[in-house]
Amino acid sequence: MPAWTAPASSRPLDVLGVPGQTNLDHAASAPCARAAADAVAELLPWYASVHRGAGALSRRCTLAYERARQTVGDFFGARPGDHVIFTRNTTDALNLLARALPAGTTVVTFAGEHHANLLPWPRGSVRLPVPASPGEAVRALDAALTELRRDATPGAGGAAGGARPAGPPVLVAVTGASNVTGERWPVAELAAVARRHAARIAVDAAQLAPHAPVDVAALGVDYLAVSGHKLYAPFGAGVLLGRGCWLDAAPPYLAGGGATSHVGDATHQVRWAAGPARHEAGTPNLLGAVALAAVCAALADADRDALHAREQALLARLRQGLAALPHVVELRTFGPDAPRVGIVSFVVAGRDSGEVAAELAARHDVGVRDGLFCAHPLARRLLAEAAARSGRTDLPPTALRASLGLGSTARDVDRLLAALAELG
Ligand code: PLP
Repeated sequence: MPAWTAPASSRPLDVLGVPGQTNLDHAASAPCARAAADAVAELLPWYASVHRGAGALSRRCTLAYERARQTVGDFFGARPGDHVIFTRNTTDALNLLARALPAGTTVVTFAGEHHANLLPWPRGSVRLPVPASPGEAVRALDAALTELRRDATPGAGGAAGGARPAGPPVLVAVTGASNVTGERWPVAELAAVARRHAARIAVDAAQLAPHAPVDVAALGVDYLAVSGHKLYAPFGAGVLLGRGCWLDAAPPYLAGGGATSHVGDATHQVRWAAGPARHEAGTPNLLGAVALAAVCAALADADRDALHAREQALLARLRQGLAALPHVVELRTFGPDAPRVGIVSFVVAGRDSGEVAAELAARHDVGVRDGLFCAHPLARRLLAEAAARSGRTDLPPTALRASLGLGSTARDVDRLLAALAELG
């Protein structure tokens, strides 16, 4: 049987799009990269079952799926003992992790998270206030974990990687980059604090991974959640990557075929599989996994510094242009100069954000997002802060968000700015 190889493409990180349409909504879902489309097209004729058939097509599909797992794991710096579990998206990945927590785990997170990283966690989780700076986030986490550990009983749980044993397990769950402001969170520093307190850390990399290299080993992160559809792959494939021991000890995320190693005649006679299969019951999303892996491979081959520099130049152009519009106010958590990925939220004073977004689409073919961005506590707080900072009393109760990606151009940015200028 011929070995599966990723299809060659001269420009794998070109993205598909529709001429004339300015898509500034990459943070919601990014367009499909050529690499992903090519990988799907190449595999489609071989379409057959994964892990369930002996035929040549099926074996090739199984190989492609497992190679995709390896590629994605390598791309995100998976360590020996880590599992790479294919999920539907980041929401699914974090819910899986929430179900895999050992009994009695306390989850510590910040109120600035996307709902996907707020709502899955069990009752009794600690939600720290939105910090005013990355340094304050680190200090607040340190203080919270010190408090939590003060009366902890040694013995149960504890972090992997050689940290001192501690009391009941603690999981810190933070974002890598905010989906509202694009601001980057100090992941490595937060991971170091977690480690010092023998806690584990999960990073919601839904918005960070499309913009910057993410390596769990280098960052000291225990779990990582990613969405393929924000990473230039099609909808329906995401990843939970991380330490195997909690995952192997947990009940399967879904019960069903593929997650078992033995099923007896009595209902209780089930041996669940170990490894990723335990949490991947049912026929997996082969095309999604292969497409996501193809993008990871293309990004691994790309000059990430050059991509970063290009995006930062566009972001600066966008933010400077917005700052020059007297009727536009930017939302931010950490201050104007905090490191960011290519995401900006703002409001147009005196104008309903939904109406502005509709007008941008209808009159200018510019696509942005409006609303509270599935981060209601943060967005509400930042809107109130923007009103206080600007001194304006006519800011709307929801915001607009423009987000850049691989295909974005200066022309896209200028088109948005020109359209917004007309609203003044
Ligand atoms: N986390 C962040 C920071 C996000 O921006 C999003 C989606 O916008 C999610 C999680 C959820 O991603 P998905 O809808 O792909 O599950």
